[in-house]
Amino acid sequence: MLIKTIQQLIGNTPLIHLQIKVPKHSHIYAKLEMFNPGGSIKDRLGQYMIQDGIDKGKINATTTIIEPTAGNTGIGVALATQEHHLPTILVVPEKFSYEKQTLMKALGAKLINTPSEDGIKGAIKKAREIAAETPNSYVPMQFENPANPAAYYHTLAPELIQDLDQPIDAFVAGAGSGGTFAGIAKYLKEQNSNTQSIVVEPEGSILNGGPEHPHKTEGIGVEFIPPFFKNVQIDQTLTISDADAFKYVRQMAAQQGLFIGSSSGAALAASLKVAEQLPENSTIVTVFPDSSERYMSENIYQKP
Ligand code: PMP
Repeated sequence: MLIKTIQQLIGNTPLIHLQIKVPKHSHIYAKLEMFNPGGSIKDRLGQYMIQDGIDKGKINATTTIIEPTAGNTGIGVALATQEHHLPTILVVPEKFSYEKQTLMKALGAKLINTPSEDGIKGAIKKAREIAAETPNSYVPMQFENPANPAAYYHTLAPELIQDLDQPIDAFVAGAGSGGTFAGIAKYLKEQNSNTQSIVVEPEGSILNGGPEHPHKTEGIGVEFIPPFFKNVQIDQTLTISDADAFKYVRQMAAQQGLFIGSSSGAALAASLKVAEQLPENSTIVTVFPDSSERYMSENIYQKP
């Protein structure tokens, strides 16, 4: 395969039919998003939001791009802005992994850290402040931008339909900004109204009404209801403990040769619960957003 830019490799990731024991002889298929060049599902988002800003005339040749992020979106945005030679400032709460922060800087982005205890809301506020002081700046703002769910609606979701020749009984995905879940769930429901959509959060996230508290599962969990959830049917919300998420991180490496991050572990834990609820021989599709290699400094294989 001959390519000219690494960005050409974004999308069209493999879908793996997991060879594990699933309740009721059901089948779990996982989209391996760590095979994007920046190492996560968020490469799709970075590329899509920056192109959308250019197409809408919000970004010109000298615009400074500013984005609050937990890390993977920052890498995706930095990959996209590097291709367009756009200066980039990423605002990241301190707590997010050393690897992600190092990669954002390596791509040429300037990093601003906000205190961990202020959460993603603190990073959003800071990004807005920097934008107000920076002439000709643009904040894609993944937490509100309709281009976020649209990125998955137009790319990942059709790939699932292309790769599977049987109906999908359930779609299971974690939510951080909620874009992945909302975009894919909407597309799949349009294709087949019988497909159930199940959103996954870690304990400490607020979707199921539980109290907000810190968690070790990284990349998912919300501090506010994602606005994208207004436009999509949610059949169930499953809350997964850190212990369960990390158990499946270890199991996937040990049994399947798969290096998955903790949000993928949570997605698998939830998919197995869904298999228990559905009839025999169901087809469950989920998304593995990134790789464990992004969390080596956090001893991901020893946690929690
Ligand atoms: N998993 C990981 C590792 C992530 O970085 C993210 C994005 N923060 C998600 C899952 C959740 O994706 P979304 O923001 O589309 O809900």
